Amino acid sequence: MKVALYQEPETDHPGPGSAAGRGAGRGAGRGADASGTSVPPAARRRVHCLLCPQGCRIKDGAPGICRVRVNHGGTLYASSYARCTSVALDPIEKKPLYHFYPGATVFSLGSLGCNLGCGFCQNWTISQADAATVALEPAEAVRAALAEAPRHCVGIAYTYSEPLVWYEYVLDTARAARDAGLVNVLVTNGYINEGPLLELLPHIDALNVDVKAFTAGFYRKNCLGRLAPVLRTVELAVKQGCLVEVTNLLIPGENDSPEEVNALVGWLSGLGRGIPLHFSRYFPNHRFTIPATPHATLLRAREQAREKLDYVYLGNVWADGAADTRCPSCGNTLITRAGFVARAGGLRLARAAEAALEATVEQAAEAAARDAPRYECAACGAEAAVRGTVVAPVRRSGRG
Ligand code: SF4
Repeated sequence: MKVALYQEPETDHPGPGSAAGRGAGRGAGRGADASGTSVPPAARRRVHCLLCPQGCRIKDGAPGICRVRVNHGGTLYASSYARCTSVALDPIEKKPLYHFYPGATVFSLGSLGCNLGCGFCQNWTISQADAATVALEPAEAVRAALAEAPRHCVGIAYTYSEPLVWYEYVLDTARAARDAGLVNVLVTNGYINEGPLLELLPHIDALNVDVKAFTAGFYRKNCLGRLAPVLRTVELAVKQGCLVEVTNLLIPGENDSPEEVNALVGWLSGLGRGIPLHFSRYFPNHRFTIPATPHATLLRAREQAREKLDYVYLGNVWADGAADTRCPSCGNTLITRAGFVARAGGLRLARAAEAALEATVEQAAEAAARDAPRYECAACGAEAAVRGTVVAPVRRSGRG
């Protein structure tokens, strides 16, 4: 448990002796509001959480919507700090991130809670319910990630549950990881206020942001949230220079119309046609019983998106080529993916970077702290949109 950042005492009912409600009535007896109405002490110790757009005003002894930020006596605490429900070494392709250290692994941590309430949540057992946790302080997480360097671990991913409501732990761990030469990855719903986001982004190298739909109505009805802050998160992360990939779960009849796909793709391509988009196949889960997304819907969405975006992938689909990366200049297959195993046979090191490979492949974690090599299409020589060392085998010779 740690005192949470981004909180302020409620000012609706300032307690006796308080200045504009700061520390309002902590431990004091029953007070009165401006109308002279009696105000219970618990009401006077409300805290306003400023971390995310839900803006919870939390009673003493209660949690916010995310269930992990709790008011104790007028102070907000991050109750999930250093508590992990899941700890695993994952392929980075599983996040999914396809353009960031392809073929590497990432030490993946998840906790509890979420600030949205999606009826179709695929991880609801940890986002919407309680689960057993293990303690892992930031320094321990970094040590554990560094120990995985022989298995091509390049950093830490904050994933599985919603990392933005794990904010203090993610910030502390990301700082320590960066100091140790590791990278940091967020897999997130993007639902956070601008201030805390801007404090966090300088420590984050790559994000996969789940844009669940492209209408405000969908977010309101199915997620108990709003679309606009999510789009702002993507836009700010791109602007700050993070590697950003976007996932969109296509749910039949809810967010899969050609018009909505067009709107999503138009917005994303406006940020850059090289931003990867993953259309993910929905399966019934949690409170949703709508049948799974038909393959035809996914194929149609991919065709639409390819008109404006260079890299469009299909997730939760085991079809040939659905997860392969193709050169937008000549169509050559740069990276093939079977499950989460990547092979980069269509890539070669750009000439100037060839000498760097020997060292970086052997010690991927160490390589994260260096200038990463650049890659190009082995067929046409176009620069490949890949950030970081390609750990998957690349073509080492054959340049024309
Ligand atoms: S949902 Fe959680 S993070 Fe968001 S405002 Fe409420 S308490 Fe804060």
